[in-house]
Amino acid sequence: MEVTQLSAPKETGWIEVVAGCMFSGKTEELIRRLRRAQIARQKVVIFKPRIDNRYSASQIVSHNTQSLESVVIDSAQEILELAKDAHVVGIDEAQFFDMSIIGVCDRLANDGKRVIVAGLDQDYRGVPFEPIPQLLAVAEYITKTLAICVVCGNPADRTQRKIANADRVVVGAADSYEARCRKCHYIPD
Ligand code: ZN
Repeated sequence: MEVTQLSAPKETGWIEVVAGCMFSGKTEELIRRLRRAQIARQKVVIFKPRIDNRYSASQIVSHNTQSLESVVIDSAQEILELAKDAHVVGIDEAQFFDMSIIGVCDRLANDGKRVIVAGLDQDYRGVPFEPIPQLLAVAEYITKTLAICVVCGNPADRTQRKIANADRVVVGAADSYEARCRKCHYIPD
């Protein structure tokens, strides 16, 4: 469910989470919402963690290369200071922040800001990827984006790792990951 101009809460902020697997259009959806806010002349700031160095250091870029200028930060706490004047705060790749992002998002929303967070809700094994499950619990609006399984065409909500590596975080795109459904996804050895 997505917040609209008519359904937006009054005199408070709120949290929206866009969660899903890789290639499900999370970042595109985040960019779409932020652009609409910009068009309405709202002050928008976008943050992303430094760990994500695909394509560009200063823009959030979806896999289909739409982009928006963003601020690269090392910790979620930096957002509180940097977003002071913003109406709308966007956070991409939120699975790469630690659990303090939950308190940060709550503070921003309590201060009257619209907070839109995008992130992976499962790791490559299909295990819930904190802090996204916790953010889903405190968010007013949740959107789960689905991709299309590259094997069978089913709606896909899992990220298949195609390379042998047991680390939870291995940054990559189409070379190392693809979208799979529950039936076709497996945990690599
Ligand atoms: Zn499948």
